[in-house]
Amino acid sequence: MNDHEPRNSAHRSRRFILGALPAVALAAAACSSMDSKESPPSAEEVRQEAGPPPRPATPDEAIDVLMKGNARFASGKPEIRDTADIEVLWTEISNGQQPFAMVLGCADSRLAPELIFDQFVGDVFVVREAGNIAESPTNLGSLEFGQAVLKAKALVVLGHSGCGAVKAAFEKATPGGNIQAVVDAIKPGIAGATDVDDAIVRNVKAVVDHVRKASTLLAGAEEAGDFKIVGAVYDIPTAEVRMI
Ligand SMILES: [Zn+2]
Repeated sequence: MNDHEPRNSAHRSRRFILGALPAVALAAAACSSMDSKESPPSAEEVRQEAGPPPRPATPDEAIDVLMKGNARFASGKPEIRDTADIEVLWTEISNGQQPFAMVLGCADSRLAPELIFDQFVGDVFVVREAGNIAESPTNLGSLEFGQAVLKAKALVVLGHSGCGAVKAAFEKATPGGNIQAVVDAIKPGIAGATDVDDAIVRNVKAVVDHVRKASTLLAGAEEAGDFKIVGAVYDIPTAEVRMI
């Protein structure tokens, strides 16, 4: 079984339950479970026996967890969490965040990363801007915070089918206002594109390159093997994410 298979609600719950209990209480719980062989375990006891979820330890594992989540979402079978699971998850995120991955995605309303990767709040650190670009120091700074402080293991630069921002850049549109700044930022990276789909892929690759060049912090973490930057495209009709 893959290391990530146990990443279900039952396994996740135990981590949070154990994290919330002092050692003395855990010892008491262990004794009490040994003394109660006659009675069937409660749902809560079953959860506690399930074992802690393996938090992705490497960049590849983090990406694997995201892709497995996308497969669940695309097949219409997202993870089901009951009320008790959600309560303990809420307790955990109230105490802080430990996102295992980051997504730099387009602002498009159909691209909510937590949904399309089937993750819970607190799992993914997200920066979004039309065209999934990171031109500004503030966007790059947010990504650096996610890696350096929150210890996210991977960054997925996520483009998507039918991206209006990339389409505008491909067609050399002149929308004016501040929208123009978005279009102009995308244009250099898609030079030579044959159609909008090609431009979407080129834009993702250009943004991956840009992040590496513009952030010595993220590039250094990647070189050290602690972090990975990858590109992907989300196909809206099928809900599937394709790595590029
Ligand atoms: Zn878009």
